[in-house]
Amino acid sequence: MATREDMMVELGLTPTWRRRAEVAASPAATECAAPAVREPVSPAAPRSAPGQDGGTRSERIASLSWDGFAADVDACTACGLCRTRHKSVPGVGAADAEWLFVGEAPGAEEDARGEPFVGQAGRLLDNMLAALGLARERNVYIANVLKCRPPNNRTPEPAETEACRPYLERQVDLIRPKLIVALGKSAASLLLGTDATVASLRGRVHDYRGSPLIVTYHPAYLLRNLPDKAKAWEDMVLARRIVATSDRSIT
Ligand code: URA
Repeated sequence: MATREDMMVELGLTPTWRRRAEVAASPAATECAAPAVREPVSPAAPRSAPGQDGGTRSERIASLSWDGFAADVDACTACGLCRTRHKSVPGVGAADAEWLFVGEAPGAEEDARGEPFVGQAGRLLDNMLAALGLARERNVYIANVLKCRPPNNRTPEPAETEACRPYLERQVDLIRPKLIVALGKSAASLLLGTDATVASLRGRVHDYRGSPLIVTYHPAYLLRNLPDKAKAWEDMVLARRIVATSDRSIT
């Protein structure tokens, strides 16, 4: 029977992610150095700008409970993506998750299944989570900047991210995670209100509406740039330290 290692090699996802205890026990393995200490937090990202509806839609979304959240996303027609989506992809995970991972937008498989990160990038994300002792059905929540797939997986347009912003803000407020992990540039740009590169934003702690936030590479990028997996692992080591020491925000 194929081992997990065989499977990861087969998928081209090696070097595999391994828990710290396994790494320490393995003479062949090398562990990444712990990254720099926590830096002063950056200013909180601004709340959403009033929408074309004068804020009414944003205010309604800001008062949604989990019960109504997915149905509201599914009924959303605030941008043109509602015309091409098959399924909306609100998010998945524990309502009281300590970790919130935020990606960019659903791809083809996510659009077909209505769940984020279920394609090849998702398998890498699940593998990263497992290395941290986490799982999507247990103790994390996974969301995207956009809840609907952009055609041909094109980069989200500013109007689309603005239209979808209230949903992500509501998810953050409902979950009040101990840590937000922005996966890639789209998530970092929206959450931090900056155009800076992932490389320049990673390795330190930012603030998003009272929750610590770190930036790391998007799993799809890591699939194409395997050497940067070591840096992403450094980011996860920092993340684990933040979650171990932080309280939930009180917003
Ligand atoms: N990439 C993302 O950013 N999100 C998904 O859900 C899938 C791939």
